[in-house]
Amino acid sequence: MSGRITVDEAAVLWREASDEELQRLAQEVRNRWHQPDRATYMVMRIINYTNVCVAQCDYCAFYVLPNQEGGYVLSRDEVFAKIDELVELGGDLVGFNGGFNPRLPLDYYADLFAAVRERYGDRVEFYALTIAEFVYLADRAGLSHAEAAARLRDAGVHWITGGGSEILTEDFRSRHAKFKYTVREYFEAQRAIVESGMKTTATMVIGFDETLEERLEHLQRTRDFQDGCLADGYDGLFSFLCWTYKPYGTALGGREISPREYWRHMALSRIFLDNVKHFRTSVLTQNEEAFRALDYGADDFDLPLEDEVTQKAGARIELDLEALLAVPRRLGYRVEYRRAERPAALAS
Ligand code: SF4
Repeated sequence: MSGRITVDEAAVLWREASDEELQRLAQEVRNRWHQPDRATYMVMRIINYTNVCVAQCDYCAFYVLPNQEGGYVLSRDEVFAKIDELVELGGDLVGFNGGFNPRLPLDYYADLFAAVRERYGDRVEFYALTIAEFVYLADRAGLSHAEAAARLRDAGVHWITGGGSEILTEDFRSRHAKFKYTVREYFEAQRAIVESGMKTTATMVIGFDETLEERLEHLQRTRDFQDGCLADGYDGLFSFLCWTYKPYGTALGGREISPREYWRHMALSRIFLDNVKHFRTSVLTQNEEAFRALDYGADDFDLPLEDEVTQKAGARIELDLEALLAVPRRLGYRVEYRRAERPAALAS
């Protein structure tokens, strides 16, 4: 394959290419950066610090509204206890993810992240927020995205991930998550994060009611964003992670897509997003089936210990990490642990 593919060519590939052909083309792109038989992984825990949320996305089984029964905010001691447990189990990456809780201002987060950085230093890395939460907090604080990014960076934050993106088309957003953010806001915020010196990532979730055209629009917007970052001298997106919608207990409902559809989508994304280095497959939502995506262009994955958001919607977490790692090994991969990188711009 020479050059990059267009949206129209991607649609043809999706409809007509065999699994083997998608695998071959995806591995061709993967091999530009990675050894063919090597895969890397991290052990991580997502800490859902609050389930109170006003965004009311119809695909979410996790949130409760303010003043509704069952809402919580974790105390700092509870957060530390969860991180300590992760470290004991051999992990060193935390992802903070919660709802749009109107009672928690940006300063609450800055103080929490500063406390985590002070207690753990560089022994533990953390994804501080998703872009979705970041947009909400900046807006509530009356700050520009650049000002909010600087506030968090100065509190010791290195990463704000591209989480909460689901499908990045305005139509999808207004169908399912109209109070969350607009696509324009999402990318403006992400650009501010890149310019602040922090690191960020691309994500995607498939399996709602999105069309092929919407999936491809998401990929096109992501590729364009990364082109812009690279042209301006930034590293831009560290990785692309795609996972699948879990429909249980949600207002939207629906059915899960098959593992094969997920693998094919991973391959198509790997072929299309030829400017993002790392492709991460989702053990959280695909369990053992996730590892087959390594044959479809993925090179990296997390072994998660906890994520209430997806668990509430039906995700099952396997804590026998050696049993999980045996699966990619059986597929012929050398699996190696990797630590989260510190952004070069924030190196001390
Ligand atoms: S997906 Fe996130 S933003 Fe949307 S309702 Fe759930 S917790 Fe809130």
